[in-house]
Amino acid sequence: MRRDGAGAGPLAVILFGSPGSGKGTQSRFLVEMLGIPQISTGDMLRDHMRRGTGTGEAIADRMRAGSLVPDEMVNRLVSERIQLDDCQSGFILDGYPRTISQAAAMVDLLAGLGGEEVVIHLSVDYNVIMSRMAGRRVCLKCGTLYNAVTRPPRIAGVCDSDNAVLVIREDDREEVVSERLKQYEAQTKPLVEFFRESGKRLVEVNASVEQPEVICGRIRESLGSLPGAGVYSS
Ligand code: ADP
Repeated sequence: MRRDGAGAGPLAVILFGSPGSGKGTQSRFLVEMLGIPQISTGDMLRDHMRRGTGTGEAIADRMRAGSLVPDEMVNRLVSERIQLDDCQSGFILDGYPRTISQAAAMVDLLAGLGGEEVVIHLSVDYNVIMSRMAGRRVCLKCGTLYNAVTRPPRIAGVCDSDNAVLVIREDDREEVVSERLKQYEAQTKPLVEFFRESGKRLVEVNASVEQPEVICGRIRESLGSLPGAGVYSS
């Protein structure tokens, strides 16, 4: 994959939307479509917890409660990650930035690398989010996410790829979900205005009803119609 024109630095595709908006699924589609890596701060943080690193221990309580972890910590993780070789032409940010302060840090970092951003906002009705979150299951072995309605496994309760038993992620429990939604409304939703006001390319995608493939098609159309974003060729 090669990126033509539009500055020398990386293109950051920022996917954002509430928990349950389908960010993870759409990120994986975009990885295939654009041939650039996905960077999920949630996955990176969970990985630290699994490995029991100092960072993992410092964030465990917040993660379990569904609260955001400190900005400096995620800013540092993302900054280190996006400067690796595989991010040179671009990357997909899934779950970052989530606060105005993270967004400002990211805009500065990207400008320093000579890059630019396109922001994709997946908007989803509250009731749809709640029913999606209730049916969500994950394979602890390979990380694949399933959903009873939109993406059921072939055999109920078992991962298609490795036959491992599917479980409810700890932070998908009902009380934690409502805390995560509160945090999203208070801290992350204002980013739509932040990006609009700072003149960044912002694409609003209605992700409430259709199958994930249809939503991906909408994202593809929007990217193609943006000057400088439909610039990938293999
Ligand atoms: P979701 O988007 O469905 O809430 P994630 O896997 O993206 O799930 O995030 C899980 C948890 O990881 C969040 O509830 C929060 O505690 C932490 N987290 C992830 N990304 C960030 C971020 N950019 N800033 C602060 N905390 C984060």
